[in-house]
Amino acid sequence: MKKLPLHWKILLGMLFGVLFGLLFSQFEWGKALIVDWIKPFGTIFINVLKLIAVPLILASLIKGVSDLKDITQLSSMGWRTVGLYLFTTLTAVTIGLSIVNVIKPGNTISDKTRTELLSAYASDATAKQSVAAAQKEVGPLQALVDLVPSNIFAAMQDNGNMLQVIFFAIFFGIGIVLIPQKKSKSVKDFFEALNEVILKLIDLIMIASPYGVFALLAALVAEAPSADLFKALGLYTITVLLGLLCMILFYLMLVRLVTEKKIGFFLKGISPAQLLAFSTSSSAATLPVTMERVHEHLGVEEDVSSFVLPIGATINMDGTSLYQAVAAVFIAQAFGMDLSLGAQLGIIATATLASIGSAAVPGAGMVMLVIVLAQAGIPEAGLALIFAVDRPLDMCRTAVNVTGDASVSMMVAKWLGKLGIPKVKNWDDHYKN
Ligand code: ASP
Repeated sequence: MKKLPLHWKILLGMLFGVLFGLLFSQFEWGKALIVDWIKPFGTIFINVLKLIAVPLILASLIKGVSDLKDITQLSSMGWRTVGLYLFTTLTAVTIGLSIVNVIKPGNTISDKTRTELLSAYASDATAKQSVAAAQKEVGPLQALVDLVPSNIFAAMQDNGNMLQVIFFAIFFGIGIVLIPQKKSKSVKDFFEALNEVILKLIDLIMIASPYGVFALLAALVAEAPSADLFKALGLYTITVLLGLLCMILFYLMLVRLVTEKKIGFFLKGISPAQLLAFSTSSSAATLPVTMERVHEHLGVEEDVSSFVLPIGATINMDGTSLYQAVAAVFIAQAFGMDLSLGAQLGIIATATLASIGSAAVPGAGMVMLVIVLAQAGIPEAGLALIFAVDRPLDMCRTAVNVTGDASVSMMVAKWLGKLGIPKVKNWDDHYKN
């Protein structure tokens, strides 16, 4: 067991979690046992991951920016990052729309199933709608205003304020570059050491990760809704999964073409982060692990990984945007609506923006889907149709979101000449010491 590579250990943890959940949820006492005695360990695992996200962004981004020779490097990295993120998101929405228009999963939903689903999940759908309504009631420049915190400690208090922390870290890093080296040395040394400590903490968390994912998946299975509803949504689920698979293939092709690295190398390096993303459904909780894997196992220099990845976790959600496009058209089909080309083009724009605005936490993509539906004139109550399968699809789209961020960071690093030899060559030696 000790020799087993980390991604296998995590996979085994997931498998045992599902089996354990399936077995014990046959009995009422078994369900209670999982909810009371196993689920809390999953929650603790996610909390520990989230706990180090803000200090990690601060330490690594301040160190990364302050290592830059001059500030112009920052803007060339920034443009490439944002450009690539936009490109991959638009590709994702286009893939989603194409697949859903070919398969037409919504046409297979009978009137009876539609009524059943609508009544079973009506209240859940309304809850998501009211969260979305709160987000809609803001002015056009609010996102820009929200970027700049008025108090850094307040910003650091909430993991949802990641962009504010990123803003502060970059700003602070620029300040360090602009003062004489003799004076900046001690501040730089402090953040460098802090960064090392946090990376070590991530190693420790990864040792516990197979147990963490076991607890998360066992609880998920024990609390899952009945299988019959899943079956009614089978074709929709397959459509989303097919789209997500296309997206993964697209990343692999991009990474191969742009960085000339082998696909196996990329997958081996990033797979623990993908598995954690799948288990936690949160790219924010996975961020520390993504950052560590990309830097130490894929060879992306830290000034690039610490800049590209936290921004990606917040604004680049290709899996989410693809899912939103498929879900919107699916709901329209299920209601017998024919979407015009104009409405579909509108979905490309709104799904792109909605995925940028989605928080990197479980279920966020569905909240923002409300906005996509509203723009396209599709009944928002249709959310209830897809509720039953949202969690498993959330797990898959989060894994795609994280893979997208990692791919973009490798490409940006390659273009800037910052893709080197990974610090850790033997994947698992690292976790032993
Ligand atoms: N759970 C996703 C993430 O954290 C967001 C979503 O699609 O709901 O990346």
